[in-house]
Amino acid sequence: MVNIILLGPPGAGKGTQAKRLEESRGMVQLSTGDMLKEAIAKGTELGKRVEGIMARGELVTDEIVIGLIEAKMGEGAKGGFIFDGFPRTLKQADALGDLMVRKGVKLDAVIEMQVDDAALVARVSGRFTCGNCGAVYHDVTRPTKASGICDVCGSTDLRRRADDNEVTLKTRLMEYYKKTSPLIGYYYAKGQLSAVDGLAEVKAVADAIAKVLDKP
Ligand code: ADP
Ligand code: AMP
Repeated sequence: MVNIILLGPPGAGKGTQAKRLEESRGMVQLSTGDMLKEAIAKGTELGKRVEGIMARGELVTDEIVIGLIEAKMGEGAKGGFIFDGFPRTLKQADALGDLMVRKGVKLDAVIEMQVDDAALVARVSGRFTCGNCGAVYHDVTRPTKASGICDVCGSTDLRRRADDNEVTLKTRLMEYYKKTSPLIGYYYAKGQLSAVDGLAEVKAVADAIAKVLDKP
């Protein structure tokens, strides 16, 4: 069992790699962004509370996402957890540390996916996902094999995110640099940080992550 955090700005490729790790290693992706989007889609109280905040590209409160993670961790994961888009603040990082101690699980690695800002605009503006299975695609770098049909599950429910526009991306990037990037130093100081080149091809990034996970 291996538990890891994928750390990086919006568009770095965290979700893409998390899905591959789920398939190849039986790990479980815990994406707070996906959990919040699901709450919005279902029209729950939580969804109504966070909708405006997410549309603006700001972070929702620490309490909300910590609660979501705690609930999901309770369900367990044989192959281990992939924390994707969580933690995003120092408070969330401390809370995750406490949670892991309480649940008796270990954090094996924090993988920083390094990309430059110029690439993120292109990544985010070309992104679309399958509404049924969550597979992640890109207009240019990762199109579906047949137009309009998901390669993985055959669904035609392909969606674009409302917050994947240039204006909102600016806010999301600012939130990342102000509140999330300090986690790089935090995990470095704890001796848990490894960096991979997120600008490489999807397979090459996956190989670099596998190298970190399989390090004796
Ligand atoms: P994140 O979860 O970090 O926000 P995603 O995994 O959703 O990022 O990836 C953002 C976009 O970039 C998607 O459209 C995805 O298909 C594409 N992408 C992801 N990794 C790569 C890569 N290594 N090379 C090229 N495009 C990529
Ligand atoms: P993501 O799918 O990871 O890009 O997240 C989409 C949006 O959900 C973000 O822009 C935030 O508004 C919100 N969000 C997701 N994860 C967190 C988190 N850990 N802390 C605060 N807000 C989050």
